Amino acid sequence: MPKISIIVPCYNEEAALPLFYREITRVAGEMDYVDFEFIFIDDGSKDNTLPELRRLAAADKRVRFVSFSRNFGKEAGMLAGLEAATGDFVALMDADLQDPPALLPELYQAVTKEGYDCAATRRTTREGEPPIRSFFARMFYKIINKISDADIVDGARDYRLMRRSMVDAILSMREYNRFSKGIFGWVGFRTKWVPFVNVERIAGETKWSFWKLFRYSLEGIVAFSTVPLAIASVLGVIVCLAAFVFVVVVLVKTLAFGDPVGGWPSMMCVILFLGGVQLLCIGILGQYLSKTYLEAKRRPVYLVRETEEGVK
Ligand code: UDP
Ligand code: MG
Repeated sequence: MPKISIIVPCYNEEAALPLFYREITRVAGEMDYVDFEFIFIDDGSKDNTLPELRRLAAADKRVRFVSFSRNFGKEAGMLAGLEAATGDFVALMDADLQDPPALLPELYQAVTKEGYDCAATRRTTREGEPPIRSFFARMFYKIINKISDADIVDGARDYRLMRRSMVDAILSMREYNRFSKGIFGWVGFRTKWVPFVNVERIAGETKWSFWKLFRYSLEGIVAFSTVPLAIASVLGVIVCLAAFVFVVVVLVKTLAFGDPVGGWPSMMCVILFLGGVQLLCIGILGQYLSKTYLEAKRRPVYLVRETEEGVK
């Protein structure tokens, strides 16, 4: 029988875990034509997520877990899961039931019968989200799709089922700064998009603040596009041209009307403007340099403290 590995990153999910486990085992029970493996990633939780996982693993041998030495973020959790997965198919899923396990049979159908390599989900509404957050999210998707080769779909969730070939392609991308939405789009393959209506988290609370999301989106842009660097050069050219025109105007004016002392306000404007442009461009350079610095260190993306086989 083919095997599906279900990967579930968990950070402080003690409240949602039992509910999630009940639902996923119900769906797995209905799909009796496949074997299952559930891999939970405890991302340095500070609540009872780890004891809960130990309990589940002891009771059900399909349950495996990887527990990190500290919180490394969801991206690291997903990578750890993909590396640990042994299935012919691999699914990524949140622990809070915002990614309905009930969609699994439909996703499985797409990758086995309909010739797709991946079936991914997309939420159709942003209902229940603050309008300002939706506005920035829309802008982000518009911008990043214009400036990168990775096809990044608005509203796409990380919830997806992939064939082994696509998983291996994702694992072959060894970058330290992992922006999964971009990686999924970058590797390509044939993806079927399954829309579903957004559901609220079942228990616990979201780990994403507006600022975290904002920083995450900047990381996505730096990771999947070098256009901001080009913008810096273009800005330089434009400012040079403007400066040239300005010089000609000043020269002609001085020759025609003499050179009365003055012009302090206009000089301040020019200095402040140029200073701003220079700092902006240095900032853009700095963003890329800092990412290059982190990549060059070749630090591990995550560290494991314990798995279902015991403490390491
Ligand atoms: N998560 C994680 N590490 C983190 C933050 C989140 O593993 O540092 C997990 C979390 O437990 C959940 C999933 O990532 O299973 C999505 O997180 P959340 O529900 O908070 O995000 P939202 O659905 O609000 O975007
Ligand atoms: Mg959630």
